[in-house]
Amino acid sequence: MGAAKTQSSTSPPERRSSKKVVPGPRDPEALQPFEGEALSSWITTLAEDRDIAVKQLLREFHLHKHGALSMGETRLDPPVARRISRLTGVDEQALHAMTLARYAGNALPHLPLSPEANAKDAGQWHSSAWLCDRRIRWCPRCLRENDGRWPLRWLLPWTFACLKHSVYLESECQRCQSVVTFGRLNSVRPQHCDAQTADERFRRYGYDETCDFPLAMSHPLRVRDDTVLALQTRINEWLDGVPTVDDRQLVSLTAVLIMLLSPSMLRRGDPILLFAIRSLRAPRPHQKRELWTDPLRVAAAACAADRILERSESAAQVARQIADLRIVDYRVVPWELDVMDWAYGPALRPNPYLEELVKRHVITVGDFRYH
Ligand SMILES: [Zn+2]
Ligand SMILES: [Zn+2]
Repeated sequence: MGAAKTQSSTSPPERRSSKKVVPGPRDPEALQPFEGEALSSWITTLAEDRDIAVKQLLREFHLHKHGALSMGETRLDPPVARRISRLTGVDEQALHAMTLARYAGNALPHLPLSPEANAKDAGQWHSSAWLCDRRIRWCPRCLRENDGRWPLRWLLPWTFACLKHSVYLESECQRCQSVVTFGRLNSVRPQHCDAQTADERFRRYGYDETCDFPLAMSHPLRVRDDTVLALQTRINEWLDGVPTVDDRQLVSLTAVLIMLLSPSMLRRGDPILLFAIRSLRAPRPHQKRELWTDPLRVAAAACAADRILERSESAAQVARQIADLRIVDYRVVPWELDVMDWAYGPALRPNPYLEELVKRHVITVGDFRYH
């Protein structure tokens, strides 16, 4: 993401080079993206493979203007996609599928239509959506197997488990316990923890030193409950655009429960999920956007949603169950939905459960009232 500000005033003047830097369509050595790879990851890999700067490749692709890679990752302009396709031999549709635009129909309904044309809108979306909290989640085993390349789906909080390796995605550095972000350099394919550690024991060389722990070296938590993997599969089907009615209900309720989760909802299932929302390390409710960045919490919400839906016939019954379970844990504390949750919360609208919960005052929406 965000190799955006590549054109700084300090960069050397652009030189026209006649040397071709990208392979032509019939080049047998053309580096193909792997299934599901993020555009930014592939472009970075391509640049490394050709031993050229990413910046140079972006210019070749006409992706260097208007926020470059971060916007390119959001949505590709058709002429740009055509050009990249012509230069690399990768199918145009496949290129579009490597951008977040593929989720505009479900997980990202507010994705700007044309990020290049309206950078302000795109910037606002980037800074306010849960998606771009700059935090990352990853499967260390996949990173090891794919030479550090990144699937697009890891950018979405909806991805909480790796189906290939049956592990929960990581979101914290195992050396310094910081959340890991895309980094100060806005690396499009982060490989190391870039936290500046506050703990002197980890500072071997100086105060500005970053932790630098290799993400691929983490030991991920094994998923011990097959239900979690089954739920990730169903959510993936929704993301791929082939959900059943039940999958849609599951996603809608999960989106709500990520906010409203309480320990009583997790009496059965993988104990690590109960621990995740009870422990002191769990994000506090006031850190609202952070709730979405914790893969264990999202997994816990999906499990709770699945169980509640098993026992309920209607949205009203679902809301009553949630209200009852929350009273057990928290007495009566309504969840105040802020404007950002309302506008950008994934799959929140239209969401039948949300309406019922507002009616029951489990959720309040500022001055907003249902009639
Ligand atoms: Zn994996
Ligand atoms: Zn670290």
